[in-house]
Amino acid sequence: MNNSQQQEIWFVTGSQHLYGEETLKQVEVHSQKVAAGLNERSNTPADIVFKTVLTTSEAIKTLMLEANSDPKCIGLITWMHTFSPSKMWIAGLKALNKPFVHLHTQFNRDIPWNEIDMDFMNLNQSAHGGREFGFINAAMGIDRKVIAGHWQDSEVISELDTWIRAAIGKHELENLKVARFGDNMRNVAVTEGDKVSAQLQFGLDVRGFGVGDLVEYVKAVSDSDLKDLLRAYNEEYKISKEDGASEAFGHSIKEAARIELGIKAFLDEGGFGAFTTTFEDLHGLEQLPGISAQRLMQQGYGFAAEGDWKTAALVRITKKMAEGLKGGTSFMEDYTYHFNPDKPQVLGAHMLEICPSITNSKASLEVHPLGIGGKADPARLVFTGEPGDAVNIAMMDLGNRYRMIVNKVEATETPDLPKLPVARVLWDPKPNLKIAAQSWILAGGAHHTSYSQALTVQHAVDLAEMLGIECLVIDEKTDIRDFKQEVRTNSLYFSR
Ligand code: MN
Repeated sequence: MNNSQQQEIWFVTGSQHLYGEETLKQVEVHSQKVAAGLNERSNTPADIVFKTVLTTSEAIKTLMLEANSDPKCIGLITWMHTFSPSKMWIAGLKALNKPFVHLHTQFNRDIPWNEIDMDFMNLNQSAHGGREFGFINAAMGIDRKVIAGHWQDSEVISELDTWIRAAIGKHELENLKVARFGDNMRNVAVTEGDKVSAQLQFGLDVRGFGVGDLVEYVKAVSDSDLKDLLRAYNEEYKISKEDGASEAFGHSIKEAARIELGIKAFLDEGGFGAFTTTFEDLHGLEQLPGISAQRLMQQGYGFAAEGDWKTAALVRITKKMAEGLKGGTSFMEDYTYHFNPDKPQVLGAHMLEICPSITNSKASLEVHPLGIGGKADPARLVFTGEPGDAVNIAMMDLGNRYRMIVNKVEATETPDLPKLPVARVLWDPKPNLKIAAQSWILAGGAHHTSYSQALTVQHAVDLAEMLGIECLVIDEKTDIRDFKQEVRTNSLYFSR
């Protein structure tokens, strides 16, 4: 997979010459300490790197242009240590095409009541400098995140981490290639979209292939690779005694393993980080990719069914954003409702393709008929997602723009479902099923989502803001009337 080089967040500090050399030296020492402190306590795969104290328009523009052209730099933290007249930021901010966050902090946490003098005041002037920087950003109409608080405060560090993870997602989307095997499932609207506008707006590169192109890779799988993978299947998953002894089962999982190796070879050779399949178009494939999609997702590839390239990309970038965090991320679909008034819930699943990263238990490898599609019975991993907080994120192409929608959910214990032959997870959507479903449907939310136990609503909000698209949130605070009004006002704002 295209695991890129170490990613960096550049820490840049604004000041000015007015204060004199001594003060500027002090500013630099402070900035280095803050950058190092943040880097040490930050819990993301990216490094926070101290850059420089900026005091002139030329230096700011030069640094911004360097940030634009350095592939390691995925975003910037700006801090106005002291007063930094913001006319000098205009040229640089105009040129900058990487995301940045305004960290509104100051070096000293507390005012030393007995010692405070004018020197202290001048060296702890973010309250003043940050406002000047905020003004120019507001005047330039730059949609950015502002984090306020002391830099050693854990809430500030956590907010910054969330933003950095969003920057990781944006960067991934800019460099992501999705392979589509077959087209869309016939006549489905929400999984469609304008691939040219996606590339113009996000950099996302979606390429279409005939299933025959993939079949060549499946046929080329070596016997020794196949043997190794089948051994892994036998070691990693539960297989019933009956299945273990069945010739038909043996044949089915062998074909499934061949498909997994073929898809992986295809993706790696072409530098694809995500893929889609469709059960309507399987010419030359004996069965719909089930376990292969599940295992490839677990390895970090994005996936969505039925040609849904937007969700495949979303699964990939949310997996990248979640790297190192507790909990998994999977392709998901709201499948069936439990409208029981005692505890209304949603059973999430798909025909086969749910990522095993959302369970801690050993999955069971099974072969069952699909019911639709008319192909051989596909092999799949069956398991139940862990209880706990999660989010469902979807992205829709409304024709003239993109909309993201995120719903906070709480996965619960799932009763035994002895006859259900697919991976699943049961959740309680916030604020409740009635309002969550009403809001989701009013907003045109898709049935396919990225379901993440690792990410929060804020990760999606930061990502959408960075991408310049709408993000509707459904959580404990959602009220239908307000939500509907937000959809209406947003449609004006985002159609500018
Ligand atoms: Mn589906």
